[in-house]
Amino acid sequence: MLLIQCPWCGPRDEIEFSYGGEAHIARPQDPSQLSDAEWAEFLFMRTNTKGAHKERWNHAHGCRRWFNVERDTLTYQIKRVYHCDGTPVQEGK
Ligand SMILES: [Zn+2]
Repeated sequence: MLLIQCPWCGPRDEIEFSYGGEAHIARPQDPSQLSDAEWAEFLFMRTNTKGAHKERWNHAHGCRRWFNVERDTLTYQIKRVYHCDGTPVQEGK
């Protein structure tokens, strides 16, 4: 079981959170200009990282806010927690 550091609420049990998939997936500026294959690539294709993986999490049973986590997919160890805009979470929060 993971202990996840919510930037606003502090450390909480994994069951309070919802996994939001890979972080830093940019939505295309003009989706109507994409081919079906390009749109499908955006919607469905994600990396299958072995090691450090940046992912989105939502504190669904708490403050309901989104943030990013860098987690090792082999050990499940969380390397860092940071805000969606990339700013680091201050220690002690
Ligand atoms: Zn929270």
